[in-house]
Amino acid sequence: MSPIQQPKILLVDDMPTNIRVLAEALHQEYRIHIATSGTMALDILEAETDKPDLILLDVMMPDLDGYETCRRIKENASLQNIPIIFVTAKGDVEDEQRGLDLGAVDYIAKPFHLAIARARIRNHINLKRRTDLLEGLAHIDGLTGIPNRRCLEETLDPELRRIVRCGGPFSLMMIDIDFFKLYNDHYGHGAGDECLRQVAQTLSQTVFRAGDSLYRYGGEEFTVLLPGTDHAGTLALAERFRQAILSLNIPAAHSPIADRVTISIGCVTAIPEREDGREMLLATADRLLYQAKRAGRNRVCGVDLAAGDACATA
Ligand code: GH3
Ligand code: MG
Ligand code: MG
Repeated sequence: MSPIQQPKILLVDDMPTNIRVLAEALHQEYRIHIATSGTMALDILEAETDKPDLILLDVMMPDLDGYETCRRIKENASLQNIPIIFVTAKGDVEDEQRGLDLGAVDYIAKPFHLAIARARIRNHINLKRRTDLLEGLAHIDGLTGIPNRRCLEETLDPELRRIVRCGGPFSLMMIDIDFFKLYNDHYGHGAGDECLRQVAQTLSQTVFRAGDSLYRYGGEEFTVLLPGTDHAGTLALAERFRQAILSLNIPAAHSPIADRVTISIGCVTAIPEREDGREMLLATADRLLYQAKRAGRNRVCGVDLAAGDACATA
């Protein structure tokens, strides 16, 4: 098990003495990173994937002052949720109000009592960690433990934008368990839940490339995003999924088509040139899934919009 990492604080101040005092007071509890100007802070924040849990921001700095640095951080969607505390000698009511109006969570005026500053910092870090935890839970499906539809909806647009920028194909799959209503009717809802868990686990273990992702779309339906994968690769993966579920050998005495649980899959590949292609991709994969159902289930149907043709495999 990996040890829980200490929270990370970015300390932004142009005065070495200020940095030293705070760093010494905090380094045992936190990982302290330092920026000596607003510009440097923005560069670090944008470049690093491991974002800090808190930013301690000085107000008076040459070039970009703390207020402007704060404004730019709050403008950036990937940074705006990092709490900011101003730590400054500018202690007037107007200064403090200005800082809080810009979205800072707290304002510590110098000179401050180290113990009080430390307690405030600890409170805000604890709140941030709790928010992160809830945010994480809000994106995970409680039954299967995989990302949920909300997570898909928040991921799809940025992924499409990225592909529009970089070029290349984008594939999307809709996967649906066959005759699952009958499964529930025959084996009971508890067994149905267990079946869903097993299917989700198997899909998530079936060879994914970095960047591919699986979601529970709802009920007994799953969605897979495959940025950068062409149609041949998508059909091959869909077929692996279909085989993997067959290999689970989950009995299906209720099924009119097989002795074990099966899935049907609809896939679409496109070269997205516009950023609003999400509805079209979801609707097309859904249409192909319906086609697979009508053709007898336990099969994959796909369309390659990039090539303009459609095909189906058993
Ligand atoms: P098809 O082959 O056409 O997909 O038929 P189906 O019966 O699988 O499809 P239908 O949409 O008619 O039924 C889906 C069933 O999935 C009905 C619903 O009770 C069941 N279901 C949805 N969510 C859950 C869940 O979380 N747990 C269990 N046990 N069943 C669920
Ligand atoms: Mg179904
Ligand atoms: Mg369904």
